[in-house]
Amino acid sequence: MRCEDVARLLPETVEGTPVDLAMQTHIESCLRCQAELARYRRMLRALQQLRTRFLEPSPSLLAQTLAALGTVRRTYPSVSLGMINWPSLERDAALQALHARREAIEAEVSRLNTIQVDQQPLPDFVEALFDHSIGQLEAESDWVTRTLEYMTTKPWLE
Ligand SMILES: [Zn+2]
Repeated sequence: MRCEDVARLLPETVEGTPVDLAMQTHIESCLRCQAELARYRRMLRALQQLRTRFLEPSPSLLAQTLAALGTVRRTYPSVSLGMINWPSLERDAALQALHARREAIEAEVSRLNTIQVDQQPLPDFVEALFDHSIGQLEAESDWVTRTLEYMTTKPWLE
């Protein structure tokens, strides 16, 4: 067995321990492959630590994450504040603020679309997250359009 064969078989070792006798024999007599095996074991350990740190959240975080996924929260409290106080606003200024809101929404949709396209291909859960964010913004934009129409065709209550 040559060093190249050992390098090729390294990923097939179990936790960096050779499963092949010929490989084992070669490594015992080859300093280069011993160093390579040590490097490979360090890499496996580092990967294991990464996985533990970032991909295996604590049970309480998992529970919180599941709860958050199943919970509907009011996303845009600024709409509530603006609409509840609508009667005290000057009409043109209020309509202008809604126009500004729609422009800001469209800019954000465009920004997210660009990121989504630039980062293709994305994993399914990230695509779903983009889909959610953009869908929320588009629904919000539709609401602004309906509200502008409603507020400009309905008699203004003084
Ligand atoms: Zn070797």
